Amino acid sequence: MGPYSGGKVSNNMGYGILQMDYEARFKAAVDAVRREGRYRVFADLARKAGDFPHAVNRRPDGDYPVVIWCSNDYLGMGQNPGAIAAVAEAARAYGVGSGGTRNISGTTHLHVILENELADLHGKEAALLFTSGYVSNDATIATVAHILSDCVIFSDAMNHASMIAGVRHSGADKKIFRHNDPAHLEQLLKETDPARPKLIVFESVYSMDGDISPIAAYCDLADKYGAITYLDEVHAVGLYGRRGGGISERDGVADRVTIIEGTLAKAFGLMGGYITGSKNLIDAIRCIAPGFIFTTTLAPPIVAAAIENVRHVRAHDELRQRHQERAARLKYLLTDAGLPVMPSATHIVPVFVGDPVLCKQATDMLLEEHGVYIQPINYPTVPKGTERLRITPTPLHDDELMASLIDALVQVWQDLKLRRAA
Ligand SMILES: *Cc1c(COP(=O)(O)O)cnc(C)c1O
Repeated sequence: MGPYSGGKVSNNMGYGILQMDYEARFKAAVDAVRREGRYRVFADLARKAGDFPHAVNRRPDGDYPVVIWCSNDYLGMGQNPGAIAAVAEAARAYGVGSGGTRNISGTTHLHVILENELADLHGKEAALLFTSGYVSNDATIATVAHILSDCVIFSDAMNHASMIAGVRHSGADKKIFRHNDPAHLEQLLKETDPARPKLIVFESVYSMDGDISPIAAYCDLADKYGAITYLDEVHAVGLYGRRGGGISERDGVADRVTIIEGTLAKAFGLMGGYITGSKNLIDAIRCIAPGFIFTTTLAPPIVAAAIENVRHVRAHDELRQRHQERAARLKYLLTDAGLPVMPSATHIVPVFVGDPVLCKQATDMLLEEHGVYIQPINYPTVPKGTERLRITPTPLHDDELMASLIDALVQVWQDLKLRRAA
C-alpha cells in the first residue's frame, strides 16, 4: 500500500488509524475547477529588459516570440535603465536581502527615503512600506478597524480580495454597498448608530471593468456621518494626477481621504505595497499590525529601484499622456473592428467573451497561433457570465503592434464564432 492510498493502517504506536486519501482530495478539488473551465495555466515567459512588450514564451516544444498585452507593468517601468542600475548599485552597497523585519535590523536608509517620497506623492504626513499591496490592505484594514473597537466597515461590493481579507480579519461588523453607489452607501450610513466608529473602504480604479469611483462623494458622506476613508489606488498610482498621485490627486481630493494605499508592483514596475496617512495613524499600524511587524522587509535593491521609478514616473507626465492616448487608440480600433470592447473610463481595455471555456480557448489560440499573450479573466476574478479578455496597452505598444493585435482578435472571433459588438 502506497503512503497516500486510503485504508486502515497501523502507526508505530500500534493504534489502528484511518488513513485519509489526502492526495485524492486535492486532485478532486482541481478536477472541479477544471470542469468549470477555470483551471489556471501559467504562461512561462521570459521578458527581455529593453524589449518589452516583446517576450519569449517557453513551451515544451520550444521557444516562441510573443507580445505581452496583459501586463500590470503599465508603463514598462520594469525595464527602466535607471532602476536596473539602482538595483545593481544597492546590491553592491547593501547586499541583496534586508536581513530582517523593520524592527530587527531590516530598516535601511533607503526604506526611509522611499517612505518620505511616497508620503510626499500623496500629500500625507507619513507612509509605511509592506511586502505587497495585498498585505498592506489586509493588515491595515484589519488593524484600523481593530483599533477603533466597535467599528462598522462599509465596503464596496467589487472590492479586491485583499481588502475583503482585511475586512474579514478585523472581525468588525461590515455593510456592503452597491458598487460605486454613494446613494446606497448613504442609506447604510444613515441606519448605523451615529456613536459607532465608521470606516469606508473602496478603490479608485476598479481594474476589471476600468471604471472610477466617486471619491469626492464618499468624502462628503464621511464628513456628514463622521466616518474615515480608506482608498486603494493600486491601479491609479503613477498613472493619474499631474504627478502620478492617482485619481485622488487628479480629482483634487487626496487631502480629504484618510488613508491612501498603493502598490509598487504596477505602474512603478517592481513589487511591494504601502499606505500613506497621518503620523498618528502610520505610527499605530507600524506598532500594531502583525502583517507589518512579523515579516522581513523589502530587499534594498527593490527599494532603491522603487525610489528611482517613483521619482521617474512622477517627473514624466508625458508617460501618462501617452499611456492614455494608447488606451483610447486601442478602444477605437476594437470598436471599429466590431469587437465587443466593454465601456471603460480608464487605461484598462476589457473585451467581452461571456463564457469561461471560450475565453480560455480564445487566449490559447491567440498565444499559440498569433504570438499574442492575453490572460483570460474568469470567475472568481469576475462574476460568472462576464468572462473577458483584459487588455492593458502601455506607452510601448505602438500602432504596428495594435494592428497585428486587431487582426489576431478578428481571426479568433471568427474561428470560435464569438459574439461581436451589438
Ligand atoms: C493587484 C491589487 C492589489 C495587490 O497589490 P500587490 O502589490 O500585487 O499585492 C491590491 N488591490 C488591488 C485593487 C489590486 O488590483
